[in-house]
Amino acid sequence: MKLEHIGIAVKSIKERLKIWHDLLGLKLIALEDVPDQKVKVAVLENNGIHIELLESTSDDGVIAKFIKKKGEGIHHLCFRVDDVAKTLSRLKNQGIKLIDEVPRTGANNKRMAFVHPKDMGGVLIELSQE
Ligand code: ZN
Repeated sequence: MKLEHIGIAVKSIKERLKIWHDLLGLKLIALEDVPDQKVKVAVLENNGIHIELLESTSDDGVIAKFIKKKGEGIHHLCFRVDDVAKTLSRLKNQGIKLIDEVPRTGANNKRMAFVHPKDMGGVLIELSQE
């Protein structure tokens, strides 16, 4: 298991790129829309560390709701695993609450799924596979 990226909820990618790109110098390696999650994603990289800036494209999207409740900030941690489906069923067997029972297609066309923060100490966990 490897930390794949840290997802950060932002009101405006354009505004926050001034910090992450202009000030801290991370490279912007992708900018894309993920319509089924109602987000625009900017992927930044530095020395193998990836940061995802997540901006909602709709008032009722998960990122919009998150910001309304908690403000901007760290939204989730993503771990790369060999097999998302297998990891999900292992967690489910342990009684861990899942958001996605089956993997879906996320940014970059990767297989991914979310594990509910309830049983994870309040941290939303994303699982991703190449
Ligand atoms: Zn993510």
